[in-house]
Amino acid sequence: MEAITIPEKSIAKSQNCKIMCKSVNCLNDISDEVLSKYYNIKMTLDILEKTWGMEGESPDLGHEEPLDGLILTLLSQNTNDRNRDVAFSRLKDAYQQWDDVHRASLEDLVDLVRPAGLANIKARRIKYILEMILEDFGELSLKVLRRASRERVQSLLQRMPGVGPKTIACVLVFELGIPAFPVDTHVSRFCRRIGWVGSNLKPEEIQQVMEGIIEPSRFLGAHLNIISHGRGICTARKPKCEKCPLQSNCNYHRREKMLPDQDDA
Ligand code: SF4
Repeated sequence: MEAITIPEKSIAKSQNCKIMCKSVNCLNDISDEVLSKYYNIKMTLDILEKTWGMEGESPDLGHEEPLDGLILTLLSQNTNDRNRDVAFSRLKDAYQQWDDVHRASLEDLVDLVRPAGLANIKARRIKYILEMILEDFGELSLKVLRRASRERVQSLLQRMPGVGPKTIACVLVFELGIPAFPVDTHVSRFCRRIGWVGSNLKPEEIQQVMEGIIEPSRFLGAHLNIISHGRGICTARKPKCEKCPLQSNCNYHRREKMLPDQDDA
């Protein structure tokens, strides 16, 4: 069997302990349970990579201007990719530059982003965010963040309205090339079902746990592979377990298989 070295980063530090203890007993002492969990995650990521191949060939989803990615992610909240893209295209077609968006009336912005839903809230947030960026950087661009640390980016973005851990992680990993593991609805569903985290963990807690276990070099590809799996096989309703190569690793599948036997008993 291939020797595995657990990166020091994977060993839970005190701030992670409370969260990790919801899914495993304790990571300060590397128990058999933790080792087995680490093996399980590594093996599962390898199988996902064989199935979807996004680690080997990650598409470049970033934009020349990272601010585009931030606004696109903001528009994606509570809607699907198609509606998000329609709203973003309307905005970009109507205005050449973010300066033009900044000068536009709120009414016009609401109208343009309406396909993404929550148009009043999203338009207000866009206006507010553009104002903050202009104040902070003197121009409507986030290119300067490509030279910033993860901590600096986080502290700047988390002050913005509507910008939470998932949006920040998307900007980090897709726009700035800084390792981060965004947890959306597909990723949280998958991590809970397979048994990597407890069913009561919030997405931001799942992100913290998974970033402590997965190697940073795998964050982007693993995220994309899990999304593909969540869309194609581990779907929200009626997951297609019969087609899934992860059956033997998956808590949800084991539980589902047990149910008929229990009923028979
Ligand atoms: S076995 Fe079923 S529940 Fe588990 S990961 Fe695969 S599709 Fe999802």
